[in-house]
Amino acid sequence: MTDLFIGGKWCPADSGATFTTLNPADGSVFEECAEAGVTDVDRAVAAARAALNDPTWADMPAHARARLLWRVADLIEEVGDELAELETRDNGQPLGIARSVTVPGAAEHFRYFAGWCTKIEGSVLPVAFPDTLHYTRREPVGVCALITPWNFPLMIAAWKLAPALACGNTVVVKPAEQTPLSTVMLVELMERAGFPPGVVNLLTGGPATGAALAEHPDVDKVSFTGSTAVGRKLVHASAGNLKRLTLELGGKTPSIIAADADIDAAVAGNVQGALFNSGQVCAAYSRFYVDRRRADEFTEKMAAAASALRLGPGLDPASQLGPLVSEEHLAKVDSYVRGAQDEGAELVTGGRRADGPLSSGFFYEPTVFAGVTESMAVAREEVFGPVIPVLSYDDPDEIVDRANNSEYGLAASIWTRDLSTAHRLAAKVRAGAVFINMIHVPDAATTWGGFKASGWGREMGPYAIDAYTEVKGVWTHLGGA
Ligand code: NAD
Repeated sequence: MTDLFIGGKWCPADSGATFTTLNPADGSVFEECAEAGVTDVDRAVAAARAALNDPTWADMPAHARARLLWRVADLIEEVGDELAELETRDNGQPLGIARSVTVPGAAEHFRYFAGWCTKIEGSVLPVAFPDTLHYTRREPVGVCALITPWNFPLMIAAWKLAPALACGNTVVVKPAEQTPLSTVMLVELMERAGFPPGVVNLLTGGPATGAALAEHPDVDKVSFTGSTAVGRKLVHASAGNLKRLTLELGGKTPSIIAADADIDAAVAGNVQGALFNSGQVCAAYSRFYVDRRRADEFTEKMAAAASALRLGPGLDPASQLGPLVSEEHLAKVDSYVRGAQDEGAELVTGGRRADGPLSSGFFYEPTVFAGVTESMAVAREEVFGPVIPVLSYDDPDEIVDRANNSEYGLAASIWTRDLSTAHRLAAKVRAGAVFINMIHVPDAATTWGGFKASGWGREMGPYAIDAYTEVKGVWTHLGGA
């Protein structure tokens, strides 16, 4: 049983309510967690507000904040194996991913933003008024609600906690109800690191808990990663006090494979780009535009590479693809696959739930479709699963319009040997990140976020400092009072 963390104390929900999380590899109940209600939300926000105004945090020198963040990174690494195993049991991701991507990615985020604490600067601006000194200050936005999804729970919590705290905010973090456990453990580590009480608060619970936080009049900012549908609700929920919003939402990443591409390299990269974490990645390559002259070869090789991947429980070191997160999500993925078949796409491999020893878990075979067109839902909507729809194109001049013909704009990928093709397309495609001849990767040092319905604002790099600070201009008349 895990508790809430409010004002520096672990406690059950006021109502005593709880919910359970499942192990997606076998469907068994894994853990029971406190389910925060409205009064718990009120208590957590009040604790965060009090800590924001308390000199222990408000006046803490930047280098001391930096040491706290750096200590969290050290602690993450100290318990890295335990944390990785917990993530695998709760979320399903193969242990190799949890160990080599999730845990180091979270630690590096804390280290990167520890470095920023001492570099959050204002500037002196040459205003037109005579005898006037003008400078800017960057101040914390205030109480930040951090709401995260289930696909990379630990890493995405770190993407928000590290910059929010580096900028001097106080936080209430709410992980997804399917996968709260690595965030609970991370908050335990933050308590050990020595953050003052109330600076970091944790509420576990589902959509109702998130909605109560998002509407709360004493929350100054919400940073949300999740679906576009919920992102739209948050726009409404934030209207009351016009709280700041960072929205990292869905995607439908086009991968463009030009006629001159190295097809074997493109297959190796695109199989990973599509199927990493079983396709449960916001930037997953999920619609493939292949020059018609190479489409058959690409499809055949993608199908061979996808079906060769070993599906199995994340804790088994031989597994390359883990289960989907839940029965409900598997049913959604399967409905897109059935829909594509009904709409006339050609199923090349996969297309069904895994049976035999894997049948109690939420395993889905990697699936490749040929002959897909943009009118099919599988080419337009976010499937968030191991499904690869291959489309083809004849005229390179049409490809920009086709790639941009989507409500989303999170990422795009281009495979070509020609530099001018690569950079001409990179400039024209409407997406927050473009990956040329490589898989999608996040990095604390650069930007992450989307155009269009993929969101508002950017995380990571200096952009996260903008997202978690308010700028104040200070004017002084130098001519005397
Ligand atoms: P989701 O939107 O269902 O839930 C995300 C979080 O929001 C959960 O913590 C949930 O409890 C909470 N929530 C649900 N309803 C809410 C409401 N009305 N008010 C406030 N909070 C609410 O998303 P999910 O299914 O957990 O995650 C998958 C989605 O996340 C996909 O669409 C994926 O593309 C997106 N995602 C985006 C990024 C990115 O960086 N752009 C990264 C990872 C995932």
